[in-house]
Amino acid sequence: MINPYPHSEDNKRYQTMNYYTKKTYGSRVYKVPIEAGFTCPNRDGNKAYGGCVFCAGGSNSFPGISQKDLREQYRQRKEIFEHKWPQGLPMAYFQSYSNTYKPLAELKELYQPFIADDQVFGLVIATRCDCLDQEKIGYLQEVAQRKEVWLELGLQSIHDQTLREMNRQETLDDFLVCIDRLQNTGIKTSVHLINGWPSESEEMMLETTRVVGKLPITAVKIHMLHVLRNTPLGIRYRQEPFELLSKQQYTELVARQITLLREDMVVERVTGDGLASELLAPLWTIKKVSVINDIDKILAANNWWQGKFR
Ligand code: SF4
Repeated sequence: MINPYPHSEDNKRYQTMNYYTKKTYGSRVYKVPIEAGFTCPNRDGNKAYGGCVFCAGGSNSFPGISQKDLREQYRQRKEIFEHKWPQGLPMAYFQSYSNTYKPLAELKELYQPFIADDQVFGLVIATRCDCLDQEKIGYLQEVAQRKEVWLELGLQSIHDQTLREMNRQETLDDFLVCIDRLQNTGIKTSVHLINGWPSESEEMMLETTRVVGKLPITAVKIHMLHVLRNTPLGIRYRQEPFELLSKQQYTELVARQITLLREDMVVERVTGDGLASELLAPLWTIKKVSVINDIDKILAANNWWQGKFR
């Protein structure tokens, strides 16, 4: 069957990050993770202690590599990716915890060496909306005139009751105000969504995509809820296991969600990327390729594509 989705060169019926970056920048982009010693207002007591119940924080996925000097971290980690994608464009990825949760002067010091480096294609900064005031947005807007700047923002669900249960300490309104401030700044935004929260129905998860799919954002990352060891959720799960989505339920749901997204949005992920050794459930998420393939098959079997039902 011919793939009717326009933003694809293969069987994908949604816009992948690879397609978007090749089309936009002429080459694929890769993110080089940097651990810059941030924490999160949801962990240090500013808003709450303990963090979002599913959050394992910023584990070091590159043990043995320097944690001190950020440029050295970048250099060592980049070598690994560069080997895989010699033509790729590297982005400095401030990944762990909330990477705008410091005074602006300190943020400038941390970001500046990467902004000044012509070999660094851009910055990707993971953070929370409540760590982005107008002053920080203004600064990043100015940086975005010279370099690619992406913000990764956690939303997870549009349902405030779910956000309370997750201990997110943010509401949908907080998020929408932030997205509004980021409009027309040149800063690109990628929004995280979680499927499979135990008290959410399928309709609630579809509703999240319906709302997010209309927002002026660049990309979404869709994940299954991962129950990880050493998290409040993991402790609860061990004491009293709760039901999680099966692989079939998840893949059908994501295929439906894709149909509700704006056609030109980037679907950066359709499944999560957790450390298998930390995962308690659901174990089917470890086989990422199989999950992605099943989503492709469901889209093709139903002749669905991104944006078909929005
Ligand atoms: S906001 Fe992010 S870093 Fe902070 S606790 Fe939640 S998931 Fe973890």
